[in-house]
Amino acid sequence: MTHHADIAIVGAGAAGLFASIWAARARGPGSHSGVLALDGAAKLGAKILVAGGGRCNVTHHAVDESAYAGSSRNAIRNVLRRFDVSRTIEFFREQGVELKREETGKLFPVTDDGQSVLDALLRAARASEVRIVHPWRVASVERTDRGFAIHRETGSPAPAADRVFAKRVILATGGRSLPKTGSDGLGFEIARSLGHSITPRVFPALVPLTVPKDHWLTSLSGVTHTATLELRAHGGKRLVSFTNSTLLTHFGLSGPGVLDMSRYYTDFKLNAQTEQSPVLVLNWLPGETVETIDAELAAAGRSRAGTVARLLEGRLAERIVQAICTHAGISPNASLGELAREKRRLLALALTELPLPITGDRGYLFAEATAGGVPLAELKLDTMESRICPGLFVCGELCDVDGRVGGFNFQWAWASGFVAGSGAATTSA
Ligand SMILES: Cc1cc2nc3c(=O)[nH]c(=O)nc-3n(C[C@H](O)[C@H](O)[C@H](O)COP(=O)(O)OP(=O)(O)OC[C@H]3O[C@@H](n4cnc5c(N)ncnc54)[C@H](O)[C@@H]3O)c2cc1C
Repeated sequence: MTHHADIAIVGAGAAGLFASIWAARARGPGSHSGVLALDGAAKLGAKILVAGGGRCNVTHHAVDESAYAGSSRNAIRNVLRRFDVSRTIEFFREQGVELKREETGKLFPVTDDGQSVLDALLRAARASEVRIVHPWRVASVERTDRGFAIHRETGSPAPAADRVFAKRVILATGGRSLPKTGSDGLGFEIARSLGHSITPRVFPALVPLTVPKDHWLTSLSGVTHTATLELRAHGGKRLVSFTNSTLLTHFGLSGPGVLDMSRYYTDFKLNAQTEQSPVLVLNWLPGETVETIDAELAAAGRSRAGTVARLLEGRLAERIVQAICTHAGISPNASLGELAREKRRLLALALTELPLPITGDRGYLFAEATAGGVPLAELKLDTMESRICPGLFVCGELCDVDGRVGGFNFQWAWASGFVAGSGAATTSA
């Protein structure tokens, strides 16, 4: 059996649902929209439901291209500005979901429940007569004389047809992160088969980093601290830095600062020669340097003001002080007045410039995003239509765009989904 559609969306996650809503809205009310969304998952919206610890961080109050990496910043800005944060807020408000802004700038639904976000999207899709068919996993998409033939993966349980003919196709299959949700990278193969290139590198982004199994940092598992992470090139040049909450774990490091840093670490590491890998350096005391801390320790020593532990009290948790002192070969109860110059320097270094022996990352199973994908240079940014395969549109995480922690990835999904959906509906077939 075969379905026919004007516009078929492959993947009904955040970007695909949004694209289908705006494609159908552009068709106008009352008529059959001719918009069909296909998704391989038995249960829709898995990522929307797990996002933000189940609360779904829908967007951020201050979104601009500087929060993203991948394709050129200009190209990313071009898409983001077509559907900005105020329109996201307005869309969800129309659907009865108010968003609240938290201190960090992140916006969550007032319900604190991702289900209300998913329900709003499904409600809007239904209202604009989008037909959603799932589980219907796409195996391949083929260009035909009249548009596209979309083939269902054999063996997957499916209602109705095993083939769909569509005049236009929007690819919104996501990247590779959290593959059990259905975003396992097949979309990259489909894009490739239709003539697109995929960036030479595709790798996990927003992912926890690992250190050697028995490294002393793992003894701090469970500790959270606001720290600065700085990536330095082999020669010492500062490449990028983030100051945010850092969580020490049994395998290494996590928390927003580490997740934000992870894609840069991997990217620069893959770029560098093996012997010239960049170094990730941790500063437990943001704003301080080896020199300022060394001077502070020396001044306190001169006035004979107490111990190392006393000096750091209130600035670092006791467990951190203990671990750092042990690492630097100093007792936390050592009198500052008796601290030898070299020891003082070692302590200042451990406090402000601790090189992290990163062994890798936790991979796609734990990554919140995927770096790499379809380069924006291969798309017309006013519609997200392919420059290579007319009638094909691409949006969401499948594109070579990945954002920081904080709602930026969903904002990309909303904006690029809006542009692709409206574009597919208004571009002549
Ligand atoms: C644990 C976690 C927490 C996150 N938290 C946040 C957050 O709070 N805020 C934020 O901004 N971002 C967050 N993200 C990132 C955000 O979820 C993604 O960037 C966003 O979901 C990408 O949307 P998408 O529609 O492009 O892809 P996806 O959401 O991955 O959706 C792709 C859809 O395509 C379907 N699909 C894939 N291949 C096929 C195929 N061959 N045939 C049919 N269907 C297919 C999948 O089943 C899926 O439904 C989080 C991600 C994770 C993993």
